[in-house]
Amino acid sequence: MENIEGLEKKHGGPDRIIGVDNKIEAYLKLVEAEKVLKNQELTVFEREKTPEEMEIIYEVFERLPDFIREYGADQKRFISSKQVHILDETSPHTKGIRSFLERDTPGRYSPSSGRIEILPEGLSYVRLAHVLVHELMHVNSFFSITSKKDGEGTEQSLRASFRRFGVSVNEKGKTEESLFNFINEAVTEELTKRFCEKYFQDIRLLRDSFIALKDKKKQVEFLDSPTFSVLGELLDPQSLYSYTNERAGFASLVELLYEKNKNEFDSYEDVFKLFSQAMFKGHLLPIARLIEKTFGKGSFRTIGQKTKDESPSVVDTLSSLYADSSPEPKDKSKQEKPV
Ligand SMILES: [Zn+2]
Repeated sequence: MENIEGLEKKHGGPDRIIGVDNKIEAYLKLVEAEKVLKNQELTVFEREKTPEEMEIIYEVFERLPDFIREYGADQKRFISSKQVHILDETSPHTKGIRSFLERDTPGRYSPSSGRIEILPEGLSYVRLAHVLVHELMHVNSFFSITSKKDGEGTEQSLRASFRRFGVSVNEKGKTEESLFNFINEAVTEELTKRFCEKYFQDIRLLRDSFIALKDKKKQVEFLDSPTFSVLGELLDPQSLYSYTNERAGFASLVELLYEKNKNEFDSYEDVFKLFSQAMFKGHLLPIARLIEKTFGKGSFRTIGQKTKDESPSVVDTLSSLYADSSPEPKDKSKQEKPV
């Protein structure tokens, strides 16, 4: 162990490894964290970062710990600027990577390798910083894996059994399907939006173009409801923010939860923070309880199923979240707990 000092810090790699005893878990976490640190060489897909890009990275890094603490994280996960990889759009090697980038966001983050990759093609500094912030929210999300039953804990077996990422959950044996995936992206991008609105005007290289974008946006921000405010972004071709459909569906869910539980929450933001806290710390139970209390038994799982990987339209998202969020009759023999 060359670089890792101990487990009191939130290192790269998984926060939990399920299916092994505590000692093995602690050891495997260190092994995975070291891999993240060693896995950051420049590849043929990328180029060196410019001094301006480095400046933006540091300005964003500096503001991150306070921000995520405000939204429920205990600690920031350690990240080095070396983990931010700027892809070389002129390289033929980059072609294959394009399809792996996030929808609407020309970046991606791999929790197991700890690499953030950004395709800078046509991106202004503000848009590049936006992608960086989005991926950094993922970096700080709770991440767990399940060790395979043979207990060998090899690299392959650990990585093949991804369990939780933020608020999304992979069901056993279904690594391609993440329950609550839309909600995870919606919370990630809503946090990103709050970060950009709070800090971008204080960052030298972002200030002017961010203010210019905001001035244009005023024309379409016309309604008080968080759901309609997200939908208003659809009318703004310059909008900085992504995952609009997912965020509209999520905002309507949070609005409804707030409306029906005003005795417990002071504001829409308070309900939102329950989700951001779950994303950073991995505590899904408070959300599960609130949803089940509001929409009935079984509704948490139903919403998880309706927000799996796929590309919804706004109308589909909004209507499907509630249309059938009442519980299906349960067969006692296959009684399942909420995820
Ligand atoms: Zn994302």
